Order: sequence, then structure tokens, then C-alpha cells
Amino acid sequence: MFDSLTSKFGSAFSSLRSRGRIKASDIDEIVLEIKAALIDSDVALEVAEKFTQDIKARSLESLESVNKSINPSQGIFEIVNQELIGILGGSARRIRIAKKSPTVIMLTGLQGAGKTSLAGKLAFYLKSQGNTPVLVASDLQRPNAVTQLQQVGQAVGVPVFAPEPGNGVGDPVAVAKAGKKFAEDKFHNFVIVDTAGRLGVDAELMEQASKIRDVVNPDEILFVVDAMVGQDAVKTAQAFLTGVGFDAVVLTKLDGDARGGAALSIVSQTGKPIMFAATGEKPGDFDLFYPERMASRILGMGDVATLAEQAKAAFDPEVSKKLEEKFASGDEFTLVDFLGQLQAIKKMGSMSKMLGMLPGMNSGAMKKQLENFDESELVRTEAIVQSMTPQERSDVKVLNGSRRARIAKGSGRSVPEVNNLVDRFVGAQKMMKQMQKGGGMPAGMPAMPGMPAMPKMNKTQPPKKKSRSGNPAKRAQES
Ligand code: GDP
Repeated sequence: MFDSLTSKFGSAFSSLRSRGRIKASDIDEIVLEIKAALIDSDVALEVAEKFTQDIKARSLESLESVNKSINPSQGIFEIVNQELIGILGGSARRIRIAKKSPTVIMLTGLQGAGKTSLAGKLAFYLKSQGNTPVLVASDLQRPNAVTQLQQVGQAVGVPVFAPEPGNGVGDPVAVAKAGKKFAEDKFHNFVIVDTAGRLGVDAELMEQASKIRDVVNPDEILFVVDAMVGQDAVKTAQAFLTGVGFDAVVLTKLDGDARGGAALSIVSQTGKPIMFAATGEKPGDFDLFYPERMASRILGMGDVATLAEQAKAAFDPEVSKKLEEKFASGDEFTLVDFLGQLQAIKKMGSMSKMLGMLPGMNSGAMKKQLENFDESELVRTEAIVQSMTPQERSDVKVLNGSRRARIAKGSGRSVPEVNNLVDRFVGAQKMMKQMQKGGGMPAGMPAMPGMPAMPKMNKTQPPKKKSRSGNPAKRAQES
């Protein structure tokens, strides 16, 4: 996500850090570098200009106090961070709930922006929070849009109101109206209306969307936009704003190689906040948009808050508690426990996406390693463990040659792969035992296949006071 922007911000700050005391000319230099990076990332020129002027003014104003601090570049970094949060919209915005149910959400945007997929993601998100959404198929234009919405609804277990076949047949305005009535009658508390897009902005599209708006009276009109189209998204957004009007923006395809133009330009150019972001094709690849987390990612500080939330959601607190108790009581860590952990990790989603949220992981060599990360390793490891009998999982010592051959066959893997997993598991088990005895985690703890290496820990000694990093991004993270 916005990798080139991140690396350019990184190099601009690394040259500023090397200066020590900061002069006005250093500010001029970094501001120019930032402006060039923004323009390269397809940020609208007016936005890039205003953004850099604001940074310059604030930096010059605080130059004296910044230079009094131990690390002056950190002060400038903080100014850039604050300004970045500002152009991304300030703070996260939540859905406005209707006083009288149902809350109606209408999706608008160009064809291919990701509306239909987003309808499913939004429904999934609302459902997971205990709501009872219904999807309404008012895109009767795009080939297969109705079938796609039905499939999406089925995948996330949300009903779809689709009385018309689509593909040019049926009245989308009537469907939208009947869809809202359906939701009222069946006590759904959210209605998500999918509408037709076009390849470009046209009057007919605007008229149809406006009519739908008038019959359903939405609580939120969301403008869905593909983040990869860059600042062209702004022009489309402005046309929709005058043609139909909208309350907030949803950015899709942030997992692709979007350069940042749409995300960084759209709020200031439309005056509307970004409410949600989609980062993939799966129903769960979706979240509220948090400007401060996005700014943190752009500045190479990762997105630890999202990572922590995902981990909390994936790990069942009951299971974690049992595992802790087991560990404390000196019981052996078995492959059954390991399988539970593996499945929780899988639930958190793509490993490289997760690791990419850690500070400093989106640049240089780290990024290469992430790109080469073999996601299927988890699946293979899980297949091997699942091909074992319950007895084998709780006591790997019974795994003789013929059992290993059977497991290899059952999981479609080779015997050396099974051996490798067992060997590494036994190694990890030994280390766990040592830790239980209070010896702390020895260095070089073997990484389990499909899992990252465990960090070194020591029960008896307090953690050493860390020296402060010279890197402003790291220091911000440390503090
Ligand atoms: P619509 O015409 O606006 O309804 O667009 P669709 O929902 O059909 O999306 C167009 C294409 O983009 C489909 O192939 C989707 O799977 C894909 N897509 C939508 N959102 C995302 C996303 O966040 N990430 C990625 N990688 N693909 C997406």
C-alpha cells in the first residue's frame, strides 16, 4: 500500500536526520522532496501544494523549539504526521444510524469500482456486529451484477432482495423502493442498496442514482472508488457530488499498487470523509478507515493498532487462557495446541498483509522478504497435523516410520516434510519445557514450520532499558 510514497518519505527523513540542527534551508529541501513524492504518487497538485506549504509554515514556526530537542528531525516528522492525518480526514467516521430502523446505505460509483463486492463486505461487517442487513440488487445494468450480488450475499449469509433478473431488465428505482419496504416488513435493521455504475460519468447514470436516492431516502450515500485510479478519482467524485451527492467515500483495492493519489486528494477536494477501506476480495478485507493509522503506514511506522485488533478477534480468549494455564502448570505443549494456534493465525488473514503492518516492514529488503513469503506454508502444515490421529497429535513419540508415511500420503505431502515438521515441533516443545522450568527462552529458538520464530523472553530478569533509536519513525514507535 502506497509503497513508493513510503520509501520516498523514508529517504527524505533519513537525509534530514543526518543534519542534526535544522536550518530553514533544510525545511525548504524536505518540503520540495515531499512535494515531488506526492506529485509522483498522483496526488492532485493543489493538494500537494497546500500540504507542503502548511508543513513549511508549521516547521518554520516551530524551528526554534524543535532545535532545542535532542532529536530535531523528530519534531518535523511529527508535524508531517499531523498534516498527513489532516488531509486523510482527521478522525475515523462511523455510520450514522437512522432514528427509525432500517438504516439505509446507498452505494454509488463507477462500474468496476468495487460496489458489488463492497456491498457484501459491508453486509458481512454489519452482520458480525450483530446487525441484520439485507442487500438490494438495484444494479440492473451491468451484466451479471444481480447474480454476483446473490453470490456475495450467500457467501456472507445475508439475504438479497433481487426481484428482477438485471442485465438491462427491470426498473432499478422500483426495486430500491420495494427493497426498503421488504426490510421494514422483515425487520432488517440495515438496507444496503447496490446501484448501477457506468464506465464514465454520464447524465443518465446520475439521474437514475438521484431517483433511487429520492425513493429510499438514504442515511448514508457512500461513493465507492477504486484507489488505483489516482487523482482521476477526484474528478469522478466531484461529478457524483454535484450529480447525486454523497456523505462519505469508500476506497477499494488498497491492496493493489495504488500510489496514494486518490486517498490523499479526495477528502480535501470533496470535503467528504473516507469512511471505509477495502483491501482485498475476501469479505473480511474491509475495515473502517482510520486516518491516523494510514498516516502511520505511509510514514513507515506500520499499523500496529489494526494488527492488534485482528489478533484479538482471531484468538479465542478461552483457548488462550487454557493454553496459558497449561503452560503455567507444566503440561506439555502438544500438536493439538499448535493446531489451534495455527488456525487462529490463519483466521487473521494473509501473513504477508499482517507482517506488512509492522513498522519498517514495507521498505527495502523486508518488503522483498514479505513478497516472497509463502502463504501456503500454513495450509501445508495444517494439512499434515490434520492427517494425524488424536493420539499422534498429543504424543509425537508414537510417530514411527509407517505412521509418518501414512500421514504424508493423507496430507498429500512428502515424508521429509512430515519429518521436518515433527523435528521442529519436538525442538520447540523442548524449549517450552525449559521455559516452564524458569530458564527463559534460549536464543535461536527454532521457528515452527508455518510460524514465525518466537521472540526471546526471560521470565526472571526485567527487560533491559532500550537505547533510544536515532530513527524518528522507530522512536515514535518506541514512545
Ligand atoms: P462494481 O462494478 O462497482 O460492482 O465492481 P465489482 O464489485 O464487481 O468489482 C470489480 C472487480 O474488482 C471485481 O473483480 C472485484 O473482485 C475486484 N475488487 C473489488 N474490491 C477489491 C479490493 O478491495 N481489492 C481487490 N484486489 N479487488 C477488488
